[in-house]
Amino acid sequence: MLLLIQDACFDRHITPAGHPERPARTAAIRAALSAAALPDRRVRAEVPRAATPEELMRVHAPEYVARLREFCAAGGGMLDADTHAVPESFEVASRASGAAVQAAEYLLSGAGRTAFCAVRPPGHHAGRAYAMGFCLFNHAAVAAAHLRARDPEARVLIVDWDLHHGNGTQDIFFADPNVFYFSMHRFPFWPGTGSATETGTGAGVGATLNVPLEAGASRDRIREAFAAGLKTIADRFQPTWLVISSGFDMHRTDPLGGLSLESEDYATMTWALGEQYMNRGARGVVSVLEGGYALEGLAQSVVAHVKALMDLDLK
Ligand SMILES: [Zn+2]
Repeated sequence: MLLLIQDACFDRHITPAGHPERPARTAAIRAALSAAALPDRRVRAEVPRAATPEELMRVHAPEYVARLREFCAAGGGMLDADTHAVPESFEVASRASGAAVQAAEYLLSGAGRTAFCAVRPPGHHAGRAYAMGFCLFNHAAVAAAHLRARDPEARVLIVDWDLHHGNGTQDIFFADPNVFYFSMHRFPFWPGTGSATETGTGAGVGATLNVPLEAGASRDRIREAFAAGLKTIADRFQPTWLVISSGFDMHRTDPLGGLSLESEDYATMTWALGEQYMNRGARGVVSVLEGGYALEGLAQSVVAHVKALMDLDLK
């Protein structure tokens, strides 16, 4: 049974007028999932709780968490040129990370094998001690760290198919041989990181794989690059858990992307992951929403991805 975490609380992180990362994103996803009428017997719903300080501080510096809490309590404002917080943002971002932890707990319990968290703000640009690129806390990293904390044998593969490189996630796990970070993204492009030469450091060398895509990459090219990336990882790393940083801004209609995926391609990539890992050592997959800014393309891509996750849960 798929665990689906979605909640109107995620609409309470308000961004300035015209900002692409806006409350309407999670509202559109809830509406589309409701219209998709997923069968009750295959979907479990939970209300997201806030991550505890301990859960956040596995990947974030204590002084960063404290500073963000104070910044929001003092009224919020701009954290950088495009990252904004309102008084509610600390609580909303904490619940987005908490949802990812709940999803990890659900998989660890054995009750189901797949989970999707329709949360915002997104997370993969947030590093150990910085907010960046619309992101405050790094929910995918928090989920991976939770799996590692609860399961000493855990080897976690983070798959990031957002349009942008997840610099925060890469930074957090760059020296960690037990968390493999695989990102496919447009490059060169914002945030500037994600070259194929960035492969990890120290004990983590070889546990980062960046697959750059050129501007205007075709749908076939992107799907082939994804499959080739999975093949490369297969020789190096056998994950026991999967975490997807699931951004949908490679969708053809996305205003930031310039790439060309269709909604159903997110189902194809989800199945490809399941095919490669779910019956070969991986016990489950937590998928966490990242970017995706064309409301209809985003919502339909999420529905395709969630349906594919439901299929994987049966396997
Ligand atoms: Zn993105």
